[in-house]
Amino acid sequence: MMRRIYYERDSSRGPQGTLNRLLDEVEELREAISTDSDEAVSEELADVLAWLASLANIVGIDLEGAATRKYDNVCPRCTSSPCKCIGIHDAMHG
Ligand SMILES: [Zn+2]
Repeated sequence: MMRRIYYERDSSRGPQGTLNRLLDEVEELREAISTDSDEAVSEELADVLAWLASLANIVGIDLEGAATRKYDNVCPRCTSSPCKCIGIHDAMHG
C-alpha cells in the first residue's frame, strides 16, 4: 500500500532523506507518549510504520518478509515465545 501511495515521491527523496523523516516521526512518537494521549500515540505509531515501510520500499526490502523471517513466531535469540532472554532485551532486537 505504501509503495502504491508514496513510492514515486519517496524514491526522489532517497534512503537518507526518508530515514531522516522516519527519525522525525520517532521523535514525534516520543513526544506523543509523554502526553499520555492514546489518539496521539496511535497516530504517531501509524506514521512511524508508514515511514518505515517507505524506507523498506526504497531500499528494495520486503518489510513483512524480513520481519517474519527474523521473528518467526519466536524470539530469534532464545527461540522461545514468550521470550526467555534475561537482562539482554536491548540486544535481542539488534
Ligand atoms: Zn529471547
